[in-house]
Amino acid sequence: MPPSAPFHPEVPPMLEQSASFCMARSQLESVVEVLNLDVGTLKRLAYPKRSMMVSVPVRMDDGRIEVFFGYRVQHSLTSGPSKGGLRYHPSVDLGEVTALAMWMSWKCGIMNLPFSGGKGGIAVDPAKLSRNELERLTRRFTEEVLNIIGPRQDVMAPDMGTDEQTMAWIMDTYSMKIGYCCPEVVTGKPVEIGGCLGRREATGRGVTYCILEALKDLGIAPGQTTAVVQGFGNVGSITCHELSLRGIRIVAIGDRYGALRNPKGIDIPALTAWVAAGKLLHEFPEGDSMAPEKLLEEPCTVLVPAALDRVITRENASKLNCTLVAEGANGPTTPDADHILKDRGILVIPDVLCNAGGVTVSYFEWVQDIQQLMWSEEQVNGKLQDLMLNAYRRVRTLATTKNLTMRTAALALGVQKVVAEMNRRGLFP
Ligand code: NAD
Repeated sequence: MPPSAPFHPEVPPMLEQSASFCMARSQLESVVEVLNLDVGTLKRLAYPKRSMMVSVPVRMDDGRIEVFFGYRVQHSLTSGPSKGGLRYHPSVDLGEVTALAMWMSWKCGIMNLPFSGGKGGIAVDPAKLSRNELERLTRRFTEEVLNIIGPRQDVMAPDMGTDEQTMAWIMDTYSMKIGYCCPEVVTGKPVEIGGCLGRREATGRGVTYCILEALKDLGIAPGQTTAVVQGFGNVGSITCHELSLRGIRIVAIGDRYGALRNPKGIDIPALTAWVAAGKLLHEFPEGDSMAPEKLLEEPCTVLVPAALDRVITRENASKLNCTLVAEGANGPTTPDADHILKDRGILVIPDVLCNAGGVTVSYFEWVQDIQQLMWSEEQVNGKLQDLMLNAYRRVRTLATTKNLTMRTAALALGVQKVVAEMNRRGLFP
C-alpha cells in the first residue's frame, strides 16, 4: 500500500476476515497514487455494488437433505452486465467471491469489454457429489439468484469446479423460467446450445500468448524454455498443451492429488488421455511423483500457477526458481510475495491480464448469441490473439514508461477504464 494513499475505506463486516478480499483491496489501493484517485471515487470502487448470499437446499441421492451456501457478487454495474465465473470449491465464501468480482472489473477494463465485474460460487467439493446432485444444486442455485441474473444483468461462466455442463443447466433453468430459449444468459456453454468454438481453450490460449510475448521481451527462445504448471484442469491442461505445441518443455505439473516431474518434458497428449481415463496425474508412468509442496520451487523458465489463489507467499517467494511467473489462476500471488519477486527481478504477468482470454472469448460468445450467428474457431482465435497482444503491449508500455510492475500497470489500466466510465455517467441522482 503506498504511504501516500490518502484514505483506506473501511472493510465491510463479513469481509474483514477474508485474506482474498484484503488482498484485492490492497491491490486497488496500490494504484491510488498512480491514478491520482480522489477519496469519493476510491470509496465507490472499494465496495461491491451488490452481493447476494443464498442457502441452497438439495435432496441428495440417499434421500437426505443437505444445505449449501452460495454467493453472487456484482462488484460494479457501471460498464455493462456483470460478468464472471461460478466456482464450486469448499473454500468459497463471501470474501473470496467479492475479491474475484473486483478483479473481474479490472480485467474487463483492461480488455475494453462492455462488462462489469461479477463472480459467484458455492461452498462445495464437486468431486463428492454425484452428477444428479450437482444438477439439482446448480438448478436450485440458479433459481435462488434468478432475480439478479440475466443477459443484460449478470452473465455467468465456468470457473474452478464448474464446466460446460454446469452452464447448460443454468441456461436451461433460466430459459424454463422466462419461457423461451436464452443462450446468452451464460457463456462457456456446450457449442450445440450456443457455445463458442474455442471458449473452453480460451484462457489457456491467452496465457500462452502472454508467455510467448514475455519470452520475446526477455530474449528467450521457446525451444530453450521449460515450464512448471500448478493445476491440470481447464486452464492448466490447455496451457500445457498450447505451450508444448510451441516447443516449450513442461517439466512438472501438479493437481489437488499430487505432482509429477520429468526434466526431459512430459508428454502432454499422453498425460491428458491418462487423466481423462480417471487415473491419477502423479501416477503417470513417464515421470516421477514429487512432493506437491516442492512444485513451485522446481527449476524452470516459466512458472504457471493455474489452480488456487495465494499459493505464492512471503514464505516461498524467495525459493521460486523461475524467470517468469504467468498467473493462469486468479490471485495466486500475495502482495508480500509480489515485493519479493520484484526485488528478485522475476517478471510477473498478472492474473487480470494473463488469464483474461476466458472472459474475452466469453464476450465473443455473448455477442454471437445476441446476434444469432456463429464465428469459426479461426476467427475466434485470431481475434483473441489480437486483443491479448494489444492488452499485453499496452500494459508493458505503461509499466516501462512509469517504471511500474506489470501488475500495477495492468491494475491501473483496468481501474482507470472503470473510473472514466463512472465519471462520464455521473452519480445518480
Ligand atoms: P478447474 O476446476 O478446471 O481445475 C482446477 C485444477 O486445480 C485441477 O487440476 C485441480 O486438481 C487443481 N487443484 C485444486 N486444488 C489444488 C491444490 N491444493 N494444489 C494443486 N492443484 C490443485 O479450474 P480452472 O477453470 O482451470 O480454474 C483454475 C484457476 O484459473 C482458478 O483460479 C480460476 O479462477 C482461474 N481462471 C479460470 C478461467 C476459466 O476460463 N476456466 C478463466 C480465468 C481464470
